[in-house]
Amino acid sequence: MRQSELFTKTKKEVPTDEVSKNAELLIRGGFIYKEMAGVYSYLPLGLLVLNKIENIIREEMNAIGGQEIIMTALQNPELWKKTDRWDNEKVDIWFKTKLKNNTELGLAFTHEEPLTNIMKNYISSYRDLPKSVYQFQNKFRNEVRAKSGIMRTREFIMKDLYSFSKNEAEHLEFYEKAKKAYTKIFERSGIGHLTYLTFASGGSFSKFSHEFQTVTSTGEDTIYVNEENNIAINKEVFTDDVKKDLSLSGDFKETKAVEVGNIFTLGTRFSDALDLTYQTEKGDKKPVFMGSYGIGPARLMGTIVEALADDKGIIWPETVAPFQVHLLALGEDEAVLVEADKIYESLSANSEVLFDDRREISAGEKFADADLLGIPYRAVISSRSLKEGGVELKKRAEEKGKVVSLKELLVLLKPSA
Ligand code: ATP
Ligand code: MG
Repeated sequence: MRQSELFTKTKKEVPTDEVSKNAELLIRGGFIYKEMAGVYSYLPLGLLVLNKIENIIREEMNAIGGQEIIMTALQNPELWKKTDRWDNEKVDIWFKTKLKNNTELGLAFTHEEPLTNIMKNYISSYRDLPKSVYQFQNKFRNEVRAKSGIMRTREFIMKDLYSFSKNEAEHLEFYEKAKKAYTKIFERSGIGHLTYLTFASGGSFSKFSHEFQTVTSTGEDTIYVNEENNIAINKEVFTDDVKKDLSLSGDFKETKAVEVGNIFTLGTRFSDALDLTYQTEKGDKKPVFMGSYGIGPARLMGTIVEALADDKGIIWPETVAPFQVHLLALGEDEAVLVEADKIYESLSANSEVLFDDRREISAGEKFADADLLGIPYRAVISSRSLKEGGVELKKRAEEKGKVVSLKELLVLLKPSA
């Protein structure tokens, strides 16, 4: 893509009420637009990143047998009354609305109820189980605090998967698979080395739930990391009993972290309330045993920014970057610009390239923008680089680049099979 055609522009200023690093850098880079506190739109660069993250998640969910759907934001209160989750005293984050005839509706903050209800139409026998279903869909939550940029918003896309099993044993088999899939997702997103499987409080059907917590100084959660076992415990359940329970030896280090994902055993809480049952091989009727598995792609995107950025701007891992290469044409020399255009055309046949072809922008400004946008490779074409034999290639996270020929560049940036 030619940067001269991109409708967004980088900014030096951020909204004065913005305190988080992720929102500051993403707004300045033109990835997102702040509509109001806790509500952000995704602009072309931001959407490219979000889509890459969603695709990593989608591939891993498909790999464990998840089937993708999209459910509705508008919700019928009747379903939620059956599970005792309509009442504002019980659930204080509801956004509610009304039909013209005054009938109340809700804007979903999660989807256990509607999916359990859908599945009643399709699950009746042990032969129909196990199944898992997921979506990427907008959730609405009337969060009290909205100071963490895109990591905690009032409207956000969530990947939520729900599993339906015959019994606890079958559920746990899927739960373990989901745990591994989650680990892969965070590794592929470039924050695996900072992300810990974390024991957190469970519900009536299991002692613990599991969170995936990424260590960053701006995280809202406190966890205790046990490096020896590559595991952590959330402060909310961190007691000597729990440590003994998990037979974890070694040190625990207190640190701030962000919950990027969460997997939870629901048991029969929703199937009991909404009457989702199946007939066993022997002909008995039993409630379906459920689990839920959430990830916020936007929170993950914000976490990547928080955890990896430096004082010049964002550093995207290659797997989620909006483009692989940022090609910068420097100077006003026509011969250089013509050459840069040719290089752009050959590079973009195989790689995702953002071409800074803007006129009358100084080299300094182009470099600063490249650092802010955080594209993994920067390739600079100038009369000097051409004299030296090609383009100057530098990784975003490295200080110094080197001059390579176009041929070498094409080989270096070839997408791995
Ligand atoms: P938290 O404790 O941070 O409020 P939660 O327990 O409410 O999170 P879940 O309901 O388990 O979160 O949601 C699943 C995932 O959705 C979370 O792990 C997180 O990645 C994401 N998420 C939750 N709330 C928000 C939000 N307000 N904005 C963006 N992403 C969110
Ligand atoms: Mg919450």
